[in-house]
Amino acid sequence: MKALVYTAANTMRYREEPEPAAGGGEVVVEVEAVGICGSDLHAYHGRDPRRVPPLILGHELAGTIVAGEGTGRRVTVNPLITCGRCDYCRTGRDNLCAHRTMIGMTRAGGFADRLSIPAACLIDLPTDMDARAGPIGPQDVCDLAAAVEAAICDSLADRAANAIAWFRREYPQGRVLVAAGGVAANAALRRRLAELAARAGLAFVAPPPALCTDNGAMVAWAGLERLRLGLGDELDAPVRPRWPLDEAGLGTGINLPPIIPGLDPALYRDPRLKPGGDDTRR
Ligand SMILES: [Zn+2]
Ligand SMILES: [Zn+2]
Repeated sequence: MKALVYTAANTMRYREEPEPAAGGGEVVVEVEAVGICGSDLHAYHGRDPRRVPPLILGHELAGTIVAGEGTGRRVTVNPLITCGRCDYCRTGRDNLCAHRTMIGMTRAGGFADRLSIPAACLIDLPTDMDARAGPIGPQDVCDLAAAVEAAICDSLADRAANAIAWFRREYPQGRVLVAAGGVAANAALRRRLAELAARAGLAFVAPPPALCTDNGAMVAWAGLERLRLGLGDELDAPVRPRWPLDEAGLGTGINLPPIIPGLDPALYRDPRLKPGGDDTRR
């Protein structure tokens, strides 16, 4: 099959690759559409040590199962592959599974004709539209994008609802739902999360959309915002920027804009903001 392979920093090769083989509990999906995530761009620029070339990137995709159980189903995927056995997995918080791996990172992703993936990662596409039935026009692209967005919103809103229920149990004094990561960049998802927060009686806080294109900047924003609010509390949610914030002066190498007027620059060097969070607390 053909695949677009990340072979070195700033280098991609469109080349022949072996067909993917489905292991136990896995299926093979033929890729119809795949998105380019900010994470893929970080990897391409050689800035993600977790994505080691040669590697087929891509983890946001839709396609059809062509081998294994459910052949013919049109699906989108949850790119995270989790163990299913740990406490997090068993309590609906599998996004925190310490054993999690991911397509397009620890194994081949979707910039290819086909990929293998655990059947448990698949989510049915809520549409019977066949993207290959005819010439694809702008409206088809919009319809497909809207369908994928709706499926992802449904899945993430379910998870967020679980997480909020857990949070309400464990931290009844909690008042705020903070959305960061790529989810905060999507207006539809942002709206769904704001609705969930309102229903749970939580205030909703998300970074300015202009910051949502850079995960590093967004995580730093969330951390600075927590520090500014004096939230160095017992909540086990250390902020984890991926590179030191003070490496290039105050700047960060990540274009962190002066989003919080009057912020004490010393905060940027607070140990709680270092990559991996403040390990002295663990
Ligand atoms: Zn992504
Ligand atoms: Zn797990």
